[in-house]
Amino acid sequence: MTPVLEARGLEIAYGRARAVDGVDLEVRQGEIVALVGESGCGKSSLARALVGLVRPTRGEIRYQGAPLDYRRLKEYRRHVQLILQDPGGALNPRQTVRAAVAEGPRLHGLKGDGVNGDRVTSALAKAGLRPPEDYLRRYPHELSGGQQQRVVIAGALALEPSVIVADEPVASLDASVRGEILKLILGLRDELGMSALVVSHDLGLAWNIADRVAVMYLGRIVETGTVEEVLIRPRHPYTRAMLAAASGTATPLQGEPPDPARIPAGCRFHPRCASRTDECGSIDPPVRAGVACHLTVLEEIS
Ligand code: SF4
Repeated sequence: MTPVLEARGLEIAYGRARAVDGVDLEVRQGEIVALVGESGCGKSSLARALVGLVRPTRGEIRYQGAPLDYRRLKEYRRHVQLILQDPGGALNPRQTVRAAVAEGPRLHGLKGDGVNGDRVTSALAKAGLRPPEDYLRRYPHELSGGQQQRVVIAGALALEPSVIVADEPVASLDASVRGEILKLILGLRDELGMSALVVSHDLGLAWNIADRVAVMYLGRIVETGTVEEVLIRPRHPYTRAMLAAASGTATPLQGEPPDPARIPAGCRFHPRCASRTDECGSIDPPVRAGVACHLTVLEEIS
């Protein structure tokens, strides 16, 4: 089946910094993919490119199999919506909930009625703000952080997109409401068949929400697979190190923090890799069977 959203050979450079350095990624219909990695690994640049906010230096984005046409970005953004981390910053303090949620449809010249009747109230209900009428006249300061994030999500849903790209959607929320927002994203997948790419530094979040996981390190996807494959049987040393640090069985990764302006030769993870061999400093491993590591190939051959 053609993926809903794809990145193919994607590169994004800011001067000398290669923030995204050759990424292939796909999100299929009705699937939630978690894109995980340390801050600065390029995952937010990749997310922005996927919604058309950043134009790649090389490679392409495809939606429903067709390359993204940058002359028709507005139409594209109806289908692929971005949700950011900080709902307080995303909402205008002087705008009511009704105005905030109606903004997207207004900009896109859409009628007040969508597939399920009134766009604003049905989007609020889908985002879990029920009854929606109770929220229409409220201002952001009258809402909790979790409710604000639901309003932001309702604003995206009002356009009836097929994919949402959520960049750290719960990172700024209290632990008590994080689960509710993740449950909401799962519900959108289950009830509306929506697809989502959820960007996070937190492997625990991937476990709770994702069907598949893509692990990013210094501009590349170094491991990808189902949640069980990646989080229970990780093969890439970086994924293993992240998991060990997250479970408290090892200290966080040592070595210099990765710098996209100085990507090491060979395997980009080799300066910090506990499993490196002599060839790791000179040969850049391609992604094979979902993993970019010489060692995995050798393990599979032996
Ligand atoms: Fe480590 Fe070498 Fe594998 Fe890179 S290729 S992750 S340095 S073992």
